Amino acid sequence: MTKTVLVVGGGPAGLSTAHALAQAGQHVTLVEKEDRLGGAPILDGYAKLVPSGEWAKDAIGGMVDRVTDNPNVDVRLNTKVDKFDGEIGNFTAALSDGQQVEAASTVLTTGFTHFDSINKPEWGFGMYPDVVTTTQVEQMISSGNGVRRPSNGEKPKRVAILLCVGSRDRQIGREWCSKICCTVSANLAMEIREELPDCHVYVYYMDIRTFGLLETKYYWRSQEEFKVKYIKARIAEVTSDGDKVIVKGEDTLVKRPITIPFDMVVHAIGMDPNVDNMLISTIFDVKLEPNGFLDRENSYAGMGATNRPGVFVAGSATGPETIDDSIAQGQAAAISALNVARGTASAAE
Ligand SMILES: Cc1cc2nc3c(=O)[nH]c(=O)nc-3n(C[C@H](O)[C@H](O)[C@H](O)COP(=O)(O)OP(=O)(O)OC[C@H]3O[C@@H](n4cnc5c(N)ncnc54)[C@H](O)[C@@H]3O)c2cc1C
Ligand code: SF4
Repeated sequence: MTKTVLVVGGGPAGLSTAHALAQAGQHVTLVEKEDRLGGAPILDGYAKLVPSGEWAKDAIGGMVDRVTDNPNVDVRLNTKVDKFDGEIGNFTAALSDGQQVEAASTVLTTGFTHFDSINKPEWGFGMYPDVVTTTQVEQMISSGNGVRRPSNGEKPKRVAILLCVGSRDRQIGREWCSKICCTVSANLAMEIREELPDCHVYVYYMDIRTFGLLETKYYWRSQEEFKVKYIKARIAEVTSDGDKVIVKGEDTLVKRPITIPFDMVVHAIGMDPNVDNMLISTIFDVKLEPNGFLDRENSYAGMGATNRPGVFVAGSATGPETIDDSIAQGQAAAISALNVARGTASAAE
C-alpha cells in the first residue's frame, strides 16, 4: 500500500487534485484551515460563475460532494500543517490537531486572499457605506436579497463599477492583472440590469481584459443587450454629498474631467497572494516569486513542480487564476504527485 498524498487547501484547485488522485486509487489527506471545503467561491458566497453561468454553490458544491463522498479521501477541516519534514517519498506533516501524516508527496493549493479595499482609501471604501466590493455584490445576489444600497436598503438607480482595484497599481505594489475581474464585473453589470432594469450601470476601466472567447459573451453582450456603459477613465477620488457617492476623475478618451454621482460604487477587487504565504513558504521550504505568490519551477518538465522535490503547487496559490485553470492545474499536479507516490517519478519531476 502506498503512502497518502497530502493536499493542502480545499478550494477548486485542491478539490480537483484530491478527486483526480482518488479516482486513480490513491489515498489522499486533504487539509483545509476553514470549517468548510470549496475555497473562495463558497467561503465568500459567489453568485453565478463566469463563464459557465452556474451558481457557485451548485458547481463547486458538486466538486465538494464528490470529494467528501470518496472513501479514498480523508478530509481534515479546521486544520493546518504546522511542520513538514523529510524528503520526496517520505514526508512527515505535523498537523495543528496534534496528528501526524506520513505522505509520499504533497500539493499546495492554498489559494489567494481578496484585495482589501481599505488599502485604496481615496476610492471611498470603509468611509461611505454605499461603496462596496464585487464580493459583497456577489453575496447580495447569492443570498437572494438582491442588489440594495447598504445605507438605506433601497434599489440603486445608478451604479458604478470601478475596475482594477488592487491590481495593475504600482503605487500600492500590485502590478499584476487579476485576470478574471473584467469578466466578473461585466457579468455582475448584466445581473444588476436584469434584476433592476431601471438602474443605469457604468463600468470605469483602464483597459478591458475579457480575454479569449469571453469578449463576445461579456464585453459586447453587456453593452449591446444590457446597455451597460463603459467609461475609459483615470479615477482621482470617490467622495460623498451625504447621500450620493461621487466618482471624480478624467475621461481619458476625450481628456476632460468627469464627476458623476451614483447610488452605489462597486470595487472590482483583485487577487492578492495568500496572506499566509510567508509562513507556508517557511513550513514547506518552498520559494515565493517576487510578488509573494508560491513559485513554480520549470512548468514544462514537472507539472506544478516547486523548488522542493515532491512538493507541488496548483491554482491561485501561484498567481491570479480562473477556476477552470485552477482545476486543470490541480489535475496536472495530481499526476506529478501520483508518480512520486507510486515510485515512478524521475529525478526531473
Ligand atoms: C470577486 C471575485 C470573483 C470571482 N469569480 C470567478 C468566476 O466567476 N469564475 C472564475 O473562473 N473565477 C472567479 N474568480 C477567481 C476564483 O476565485 C479563483 O480562480 C479560485 O478561487 C481559485 O481556486 P483555488 O483553489 O486556487 O484557491 P481558493 O479558492 O483561494 O482556495 C484555497 C483554499 O485553501 C485554504 N487554505 C489557505 N491557506 C491554507 C492553509 N495554510 N492551510 C490549509 N488550508 C488553507 C483556503 O481556506 C481555501 O479553502 C473570482 C475572483 C474574485 C476575486
Ligand atoms: S482583469 Fe480587468 S479589472 Fe482585473 S486587473 Fe485585469 S484589467 Fe483590471
